[in-house]
Amino acid sequence: MSAALMPTYARLPVAFRRGRGAWLEDTDGRQYLDALSGIAVCGLGHAHPAVAEAVAGQAHTLIHTSNLYEVPHQSQLGERLCALAGLEQVFFANSGAEANEAAIKLARLYGHQRGIETPEIIVAENAFHGRTLGALTATGNRKAQTGFGPLPDGFRRVPYNDPHAVAAAASERTVALFVEPIQGEGGIVIPDAGYLAALRTICDQHGWLLMLDEVQSGVGRTGRWFAHQHAGIQPDVVTLAKALANGVPIGACMAGGPAAGILGPGSHGTTFGGNPLASRAALAVLDTIDADHLVDRAEVLGDRIVDGFRQALADTPGIREIRGRGLMIGIELGGPCAHLVREAMDAGVLINVTAGSVVRLLPPLILTDDEADRLVHTLTPLIERAARQIAGPSSHQA
Ligand SMILES: *Cc1c(COP(=O)(O)O)cnc(C)c1O
Repeated sequence: MSAALMPTYARLPVAFRRGRGAWLEDTDGRQYLDALSGIAVCGLGHAHPAVAEAVAGQAHTLIHTSNLYEVPHQSQLGERLCALAGLEQVFFANSGAEANEAAIKLARLYGHQRGIETPEIIVAENAFHGRTLGALTATGNRKAQTGFGPLPDGFRRVPYNDPHAVAAAASERTVALFVEPIQGEGGIVIPDAGYLAALRTICDQHGWLLMLDEVQSGVGRTGRWFAHQHAGIQPDVVTLAKALANGVPIGACMAGGPAAGILGPGSHGTTFGGNPLASRAALAVLDTIDADHLVDRAEVLGDRIVDGFRQALADTPGIREIRGRGLMIGIELGGPCAHLVREAMDAGVLINVTAGSVVRLLPPLILTDDEADRLVHTLTPLIERAARQIAGPSSHQA
């Protein structure tokens, strides 16, 4: 890596020069099956023609104006997203963290409008909401926070997947609950079936906003447009980013019900957010997901991959759990397995390990059945060996 870059990332020693579908080619011409999609960003894979044409066409027409003017593509995108999510309004930003900052500000303003001077938002342990100061505080990871104090006040943390803990943490100052419907960075943690519905009930009882961070889980990945739709509930605020424009930076904070109409003129802003280029790219993404039935496809593919691993790794000691919702898949080992990232890359597959011991797979929604099977077949022996090592020497006789 160049010394001209701040070394905020420990980068793998590979650079890619082009991509096509689920495949990336490195600068030596080697091909890799991309099972990470740039961390759930390139849901349509690389160099998708519909996105490429939308971006190129818009770049030749008009990249940016300003939110001081009407931006028709942004309006169109807002209407599309509201219809898909059952919400009423959208604020467009440029990233997940920024979408979450908008949600945090919205919740605080909601509190102030109700006479609560020091509003508090309930967040979850093991969460990830981004790296800006508000989002970092909501995230709560000690390691990520160390050295960056003082952090803003007004967050209270409870265990994830525990509605009773939420009720117990309530105070006069509480204005909102903010969680991921599935924790992504936290290790693909899928809560119990009744969790989100229980949160919805608690929020209704107290007049709190139910705010969901769908930055990673949204836009079709889990086999629904939004992961909360598996639970059949209606949140008040939903944030999006990653997959929304297949790699063109964009974020969205959507609001409905009591959360609609809170952020008014002058209360929030952005120079780039929802500009014609990003909005046009996002419209192309939504059109393609619709036309190619990729939401349903994500569910089918996810089941195929999870079933494939469950069969291939059945009875392997050192595997704690294989879980997934659509194409948000985690294979949890009994101990640290970060070395698998490099081993998989050497075997021609790009993956991620998160929370220390969870192999995270976020492949593109355009994967073929053959590619899905190849993913399982290539990774199985690597995961099996790592798991057996973790389980200890006795497991080799199994
Ligand atoms: C990636 C992610 C974020 C942060 O998004 P950025 O675009 O990196 O700011 C926030 N929340 C969740 C759930 C994420 O996965």
